[in-house]
Amino acid sequence: MDSHIENISKEAQKLGCSVETGAILKDYTTFKIGGECPLLVKLNGEESFLRLIPLAEELGVPYYIFGKGSNLIVDSDGINGVVFVSGKDFSELSCIDDNVIECQAGITLSRICLAALDKELAGMEFAYGIPGTLGGAVFMNAGAYGGEMKDIIISVKAMDRRGAVKRYSANELGFSYRRSRFTESGEIILSAEIRLEKGISAEIKQKMDKLMEQRRSKQPLEFPSAGSTFKRPEGSYASLLIEQCGLKGVHVGDAEVSTKHSGFIINKGNADFSQLMELIELVKNTVKEKTGYVLECEPLIISDKRERNDRR
Ligand SMILES: Cc1cc2nc3c(=O)[nH]c(=O)nc-3n(C[C@H](O)[C@H](O)[C@H](O)COP(=O)(O)OP(=O)(O)OC[C@H]3O[C@@H](n4cnc5c(N)ncnc54)[C@H](O)[C@@H]3O)c2cc1C
Repeated sequence: MDSHIENISKEAQKLGCSVETGAILKDYTTFKIGGECPLLVKLNGEESFLRLIPLAEELGVPYYIFGKGSNLIVDSDGINGVVFVSGKDFSELSCIDDNVIECQAGITLSRICLAALDKELAGMEFAYGIPGTLGGAVFMNAGAYGGEMKDIIISVKAMDRRGAVKRYSANELGFSYRRSRFTESGEIILSAEIRLEKGISAEIKQKMDKLMEQRRSKQPLEFPSAGSTFKRPEGSYASLLIEQCGLKGVHVGDAEVSTKHSGFIINKGNADFSQLMELIELVKNTVKEKTGYVLECEPLIISDKRERNDRR
């Protein structure tokens, strides 16, 4: 291991974080694609963010923040950098007020939904079934079934890459379709305050169950994926365009345009990064040629061979 990476590993262990050398990143993404990285650190509190990220900056070590890896496409050849996971070890939830909760960035959306249900709070149901963390959802302004993170977030505590912490109020968060100020600024989300409304338990549960059932019946949840592979283009739907172009079921190796929901590319077994990228390009080119629409990839692409994906 490179000596700078070794320093980060030692510091992380001093802070009580669990570390994994030679982690296989397919185990940390919902696409089940991704090669090795020299070091993976599970961040376990604000202090670990505040100490380790500035340290990686200072040492010039490339690094990535992962939540649940449910919106990521990671190179099968691996990446030369540190992966910091904001997950279970950074997932406290506290009640600020009767209808305001504050959560650390690593908590999953489904855990927040269940806690809201427990407290008879409504407004979070749309997010039940989005398989990401709060940090990833704020970063992306995740949304579904008419709801978006921007509807419920009232403030976010974040740090810049040198460790300066700031709290942003809702009007400073720059939310729009699958974007937030964080997709541009590179700041790291530490926690967020969520405002919900007093509701009725049975109604909240019924809505959550109904939306989950809708997902199960329409989405290929039985296969690994990153959800919708393409953003919704202005004036149409990616899945509709893909279907109209006859691309349902088209595959490159084990990467396949789902026959159940053509907006999803799925991994039918052993798809790798290059097969997935080839299929994404094929879909984009065909849709552009036949319909004139330009599709943009929604998941972020993490590869040493690319500067970054075409999202920003
Ligand atoms: C089956 C399936 C269904 C899905 N359905 C939906 C849906 O209905 N709606 C929707 O919007 N999305 C959906 N998604 C996509 C995905 O779940 C969301 O985008 C989710 O919000 C990503 O969260 P994550 O924790 O997995 O983030 P990751 O995929 O781990 O990361 C995504 C980005 O967020 C950044 N990030 C993560 N945590 C932080 C942090 N603390 N600070 C700064 N940056 C951070 C990462 O660096 C990365 O750039 C779906 C995915 C799957 C697999």
